[in-house]
Amino acid sequence: MTDILEALRRRLGADQVLVGPAIGERHRVDFSHENPCMPLALVRPATTRDVAAILEECTRFRQRVVVQGGLTGLAGGATPQAGEIAISLERLTGVEEVDDAAQTMTVRAGTPLAVAQQAAADAGYLLPLDLGARGSCTIGGNIATNAGGNQVIRFGMMRNLVLGLEAVLADGTVVSSLNKMLKNNAGYDLKQLFIGTEGTLGIVTRAVLRLWPKLPSKVTALCGLRGFDEAVTLLHDLQHRLGGRLSAFEAMWSSYFHYVLDHSSSLESPFDERFALYALVEIEGTSHDGDRAELEAALVAALGAGTIADAALAQSERETKTFWAIRDAIGDITPTLQPLLAFDVSLELGSMKAFLATLDAEFSRFPDPVTNLVFGHIGDSNLHLAVTTHSARDLERLCEIVYGTVGAHGGSISAEHGVGTLRRDYLRHSRTAAEIELMRRLKRALDPNGILNADRVLPA
Ligand SMILES: Cc1cc2nc3c(=O)[nH]c(=O)nc-3n(C[C@H](O)[C@H](O)[C@H](O)COP(=O)(O)OP(=O)(O)OC[C@H]3O[C@@H](n4cnc5c(N)ncnc54)[C@H](O)[C@@H]3O)c2cc1C
Repeated sequence: MTDILEALRRRLGADQVLVGPAIGERHRVDFSHENPCMPLALVRPATTRDVAAILEECTRFRQRVVVQGGLTGLAGGATPQAGEIAISLERLTGVEEVDDAAQTMTVRAGTPLAVAQQAAADAGYLLPLDLGARGSCTIGGNIATNAGGNQVIRFGMMRNLVLGLEAVLADGTVVSSLNKMLKNNAGYDLKQLFIGTEGTLGIVTRAVLRLWPKLPSKVTALCGLRGFDEAVTLLHDLQHRLGGRLSAFEAMWSSYFHYVLDHSSSLESPFDERFALYALVEIEGTSHDGDRAELEAALVAALGAGTIADAALAQSERETKTFWAIRDAIGDITPTLQPLLAFDVSLELGSMKAFLATLDAEFSRFPDPVTNLVFGHIGDSNLHLAVTTHSARDLERLCEIVYGTVGAHGGSISAEHGVGTLRRDYLRHSRTAAEIELMRRLKRALDPNGILNADRVLPA
């Protein structure tokens, strides 16, 4: 009798079905580094037809699979579970087309984000999705997780950039909906089934992405603020004064900012004084001198009004990079924060201050000190918390406290990284029973045998 591996070898060729030591170590775990597991096999499709063939066979054999893009996900979703076959899209790469009339790019799902960004830039466009993992994360992974990143305040999340896509369902059916039009209300918008659903409803194989004209000017400033209320006022003032040009508004609480500087030999604060909060603001436009003058005028007005206590306008590309390096230093300080609980939560701006105050009060009751470094894209209602304590026995309680407090404030347990396996059991804090049941119904309808990214997103 044929087994699943033989069937896959017959469909794909033996060299694309790897087992044992031939499977690279990196396919055992995503960037969460939690619960690594060697898959039963690794298959490497190069075309949509290959993906369809794999899923047809896996449905026939009731074989569970996990989809892998660049494995930079932070929710455990791409990490194999025992007995699963990993489907890596690392060979399904390439930009198929840049369409100047439609201002779109058609790209295969395994293409790294940085490659797609560069192809857009080479053609005179901007693909406005950007995140620290740009060199490794893939367009398919970005779609599956509805990735956010640094420019969401202006261009929205991945969902806003996808005009059309092609996906393969669990039974091997190919749904090709490579729409390039901005408006298309002919029935259900089926692409939304695959955006942000973390590979649980289908495997994305190709996508049509929206492009914007390149923005030649970028002006960056770092501001010191006395508190959170001032940060909200600054955000709204800048939005009013600068309109849509504000492309980043990143907040770093003193806990995060000074921890980074204390653990870095190369990064320095541009300020002599310490502030309660720091805001990294950036505008992108078409006139460098004009944009710079306008941001400067806005910051002078904010200083005059007492909204900010100090500000440093980046004078060079190097200084811009230094400001961003402080914001992006979380990866560098992670080794000093073990065991680390990394939270990526969303809260309405009006609830953020009370949320953080509740956490401070709760954490102060722990017998061992709890470190909580706070930063995030507050213009997108997104906070990142890096929490650690010496006592491993407290970790589960800390998770319950953070997610319970998020739920009590009407927030979301995942702003941009997704649910995967690591947040699956906390979904109830952000979604009602009716919402979770509707998600289950969709899952049952599209994957009745539960072979595709099973046990991800939805609690058992
Ligand atoms: C340094 C660093 C910075 C980061 N910054 C950000 C940030 O600012 N914003 C942000 O949103 N995220 C960020 N992330 C998280 C991560 O990069 C994103 O979630 C990214 O979109 C994942 O892409 P990937 O190709 O690596 O997906 P993977 O990790 O391979 O997979 C993620 C999930 O998507 C599924 N999947 C992958 N490809 C497909 C496909 N083609 N079809 C269907 N399902 C698929 C997987 O099964 C898994 O469930 C960061 C990660 C790192 C390491």
